[in-house]
Parts: sequence; C-alpha cells; structure tokens
Amino acid sequence: MRDVRMRGFAERADVEDVERLLERIAQPLPAESVPVLECAGRVLAADVFAAVDVPGFARAAMDGYALRGEETFGASPYNRLSFELCGEALPGRPFPERLGSGQAVRIMTGAPVPEGADAVVMAEFCEELDGRVLVSEAVGPQKNVGAVGEDIRRGDAVLRGGRWLRPQDAGLLASMGCAEVPCVRRPRVRLVITGDELLPAGSLPEGYRIVDSNSVMLRALVARDGAELLSFEVLPDDPEEIRAALECEGADVVLVSGGSSVGQEDHAPRLVAELGSLDVHGVAMRPSSPAGFGRIGERLIFLLPGNPVSCLCAYEFFAGPTLRALGGRSRRWPHRRVRVPLAHKIVSVIGRTDYVRVAIDGGRAVPIATSGASILSSTVRASGAVIVPRGLEGMPEGTEVEVLLYDDEINVGDVS
Ligand code: AMP
Ligand code: MG
Repeated sequence: MRDVRMRGFAERADVEDVERLLERIAQPLPAESVPVLECAGRVLAADVFAAVDVPGFARAAMDGYALRGEETFGASPYNRLSFELCGEALPGRPFPERLGSGQAVRIMTGAPVPEGADAVVMAEFCEELDGRVLVSEAVGPQKNVGAVGEDIRRGDAVLRGGRWLRPQDAGLLASMGCAEVPCVRRPRVRLVITGDELLPAGSLPEGYRIVDSNSVMLRALVARDGAELLSFEVLPDDPEEIRAALECEGADVVLVSGGSSVGQEDHAPRLVAELGSLDVHGVAMRPSSPAGFGRIGERLIFLLPGNPVSCLCAYEFFAGPTLRALGGRSRRWPHRRVRVPLAHKIVSVIGRTDYVRVAIDGGRAVPIATSGASILSSTVRASGAVIVPRGLEGMPEGTEVEVLLYDDEINVGDVS
C-alpha cells in the first residue's frame, strides 16, 4: 500500500459498497451462556423449549374458598350453602390433606388447590361462621383455578433464536426454570483515541488543547448498540503507540478516532495496511470522507475521522450497524424515523452521500445551517439526520424526507 499522506485520496469508495462489504463480513458471533438474571437486552442464540409445565400444579386464581364446584350448585344470596371449614392453603404452603365432600378450605391466590377440590369461590361470596363457610354463589368445576401448564406447556418452543430479549421474556425464562440462557456473544470493542492535542474528558480546554469528546460519544454509542467496551485509551499521534494498540488482541472491533485521513500525522491507515488489510480508505460522503475500514486478523478496524460530527456520522453509517449485526441484532437504524417535508432545500452533489442534520420544527425538517464537521453542537440542535443519496444533486424545499431521529425520547430542548 502506498503512503498516501499529504497526497490526498486517489478515489473514494461509495457508501453502498462499504455497507455491502460490512454486511457480508459481520455475521452474528457465536453463542455464550448468560445467567438468566442478565439476559434481558441480549439476543437469544437458539430456540428455547420449556422443560416443565408452568404452573406445575393447579393453583387458586382468587382469594376465597376451595371446594367441589358441583356441591355449590343452587347456591345464591337467598340460598346460602354451608360447608365445613377444615383448614387453609397459602402460596407455598398447601393444605396437607384431601378435601372431602361438604368441606371447604380457605385459600389465597397462588396457593395449590387441595386434592379433592376443583373450584374456588371468591371470598366476596362467602362468609365464615362458627367453623363453617356459607357460600352464596355457584361455581362450576375449574372456576377460578389455574390449570397445570396454563402459562407454559412443557415442550413448547417458548422463544425463538434471534429474538432480542425483552424484560418480560427474561422473566418468562426464569419462570420456567432456566438458569443459563444461550445468547449471541456481545462484540468486544476497544476505543483508540488519537491526537496530540487532546485532553482527557473531564478537563477544561486549555490553550491550544481541546478536550476529547469522541470517546465520550463513542462509549455511549457502543453501549447503545449492545457491545462490550474492553478499554479505551487516548494516544498521541505516535505510530509506535498506535501500532501497539492495533496489534492488541482480544477485541472483535477496534474503533480508532482521529488520524484517519491523509495528513502528516495520520498514521492509522498505513499501519492497518501494514498489519492487515485496509479495505476502505476514503468514502464519497460528507461529512466523514476520511473514514476507513480494515482488518487485522479477525479484528475489524474502523477508522473514524477526529472531527466529532464526522466521527458520529462514520460510526452511525459503518461501525454501529456492524456492531449490531455481530451481536445478532438488526443492522437497521436503532431509533424512530419520521417522514416530514423539508423546510428548505438541501444542496448536494451527484456521486456523494450527504448526512444532513435537521431540526424538526412545526412538522417540517429544517436543515441546520452551521454544519461543518467540527461543529458538534449542530448534532445537539438537530433532532436527527437526513441522508441525501449519492444519485441526487440535492432535495428541493417541500420534499418529503425520512429523518433518522437521534433518540426515542420526547427530549427537552428539541423543537418539534
Ligand atoms: P483528525 O481526524 O485527527 O485529523 O482530527 C480532525 C479534527 O478533529 C481536529 O480538529 C482534531 O483536533 C479534532 N479531534 C480529533 N480527535 C478528537 C476527539 N477525540 N475529540 C474531539 N475532537 C477531536
Ligand atoms: Mg489528529
């Protein structure tokens, strides 16, 4: 690979070609076993079948009295029938004997229905008096009784592989006795932040030095996309230190921020080419044209430009979908989208994909005027982004566009 520093990009890849390449490469990682307590938010790697019935016993669905349903026939407020009260059944503490004819047991919701009983009369229709229960409602057999397996039947395919586990899915898995759940392994990510000028997040900008904001943003994006952050380091523009970080094993994905272009201090592209393959360097898009992608062994290396908006954009186009796909999720944009008309025209050029920040105001998408790649506040003022595809010279005012919203909240400070 020739050293392109200070010579510019000879040609840039099309966004769609890069996306296709990544789509082909990024397949779900192998399964790992995850404790049921931690499986919500993970992706199930295989179908799960129920090994047991839930519930495993007939249980009361109401607080009341368990008895033989057929013995209540004819009961009404004007004809209360009397049963012998012979004990009680509580959740986890069954009535120990078999219920005989003419008998009833006080029972609470969730308690096992005693042997010999087949129905529960709600407490509202009963009155206890001198060791007896007076029943004023007739109930048929099985009334207010939850049958064995009414929730889950043994042998049922309860959840299908590939499913993103919702909180209630995890609860259901626990209810049927799963201790470990087979989940797609989460991709492991290393952040390598480069730049001599950077101060660590949490510092005050000082003199000519700026604060590293990319790592803060990337950590949150990596977490959003279900990946596991192994480490992050802020390195000077020193080829040996960057080389060591790229060679470090253990990560599935390395996100390199800064130094991705063709400047004198942009070492990462050359190093990736040297240590593995630099599949993409330079993309026909704005911002983020100095983005790149390569591989070192099995590790996928994303070169994200240092300019914060470019960094965000390159992440959202390339790294984010890849992390989601590795984790078994959908590559799709992870937030809501809305379709609204454009408040002003957008100018672009044929052959380049544009990522335009827009605020949604009065039901229309207003392109944000200050849109340089270094102006991070443009993404804060924006509700989302509109993608202008490569084949368009722009979009006239009034065009109905799809806005990829930045979040799913009704956010304070957003115009709407
Ligand atoms: P580079 O991609 O390294 O040429 O950086 C492009 C611009 O982004 C420069 O103005 C850098 O100072 C700035 N920059 C680089 N890294 C970061 C970072 N981690 N946080 C904020 N700005 C950065
Ligand atoms: Mg730099």
